[in-house]
Amino acid sequence: MSRELIAQAAPQFDVEAVQETGSTNTDLLQRARQMQPARPLLRAALRQTAGRGRYGRRWFAGAGEALLFSLAVPMQAAGARLAAATLACGVGAAEWLRAAGAPVALKWPNDLLLDSRKLGGVLCELATDDGGRRTLVVGIGINLHLDAATRDSIGQPAAALGEVLPTLEQRESLIGGIAGAVLDALRLHDEQGFVPLQPRFMALFAQRDMQVDLLELGTRVASGRALGVDGEGRLLLDTAQGLRICSSGELSLRLAR
Ligand code: ATP
Repeated sequence: MSRELIAQAAPQFDVEAVQETGSTNTDLLQRARQMQPARPLLRAALRQTAGRGRYGRRWFAGAGEALLFSLAVPMQAAGARLAAATLACGVGAAEWLRAAGAPVALKWPNDLLLDSRKLGGVLCELATDDGGRRTLVVGIGINLHLDAATRDSIGQPAAALGEVLPTLEQRESLIGGIAGAVLDALRLHDEQGFVPLQPRFMALFAQRDMQVDLLELGTRVASGRALGVDGEGRLLLDTAQGLRICSSGELSLRLAR
């Protein structure tokens, strides 16, 4: 993987590219806790030995078979708004991929879907340095191809970009393009909050008007019709008991059986 090619495609970032690391998010979190980076930083890896999802869940990828990168973005806004930042990143990534020809949709709060199967995920984490300066670290994993072993490990229906983009653009231009779109969405979110991104999320929301279950650590905690998200990125659920407003927390959304 060429650092120079990523840097050409993502001039807004300082760029690092490595063959292998544990987790690009862990790397950038450690760095941003020591000191907030002066400029946005992008770190890409061909392979991760300890890729993470939310709440300690694993992220699987065969070597070279996925786009694996993290962004460290210095934040201005005082409030954390970490949950909605995750949605903003998904909007930026999905819109860019759609423009590139992949009909990607979003599952609340942090998944990229292709044909209702999981294509990728976004993991946002916050680092604060000794001076109280905050950096948002955004990890993005997107499957390019899926071998049988990786599919088995994932344990839910998964998809790969190669299914819809048979002549995949260079890995470096994909990473750079997506990173730029995510940064634009995050800047908008940092300046104006989630409100301007809400209609963009709604246009991409895969489960809109569908009956869904919300699971917390595998247990169903709510069921209802997914109406969409509010101006803070919270899920609006029309349940038998009335409207329920759900913050993402530990929640995972599933289509109701
Ligand atoms: P869920 O996706 O189950 O609703 P979640 O959004 O909290 O839950 P994440 O934190 O995004 O999950 O990612 C971890 C989960 O993603 C794993 O438990 C696994 O089911 C799935 N997963 C792991 N690797 C991949 C991959 N390469 N492609 C698609 N899905 C994956």
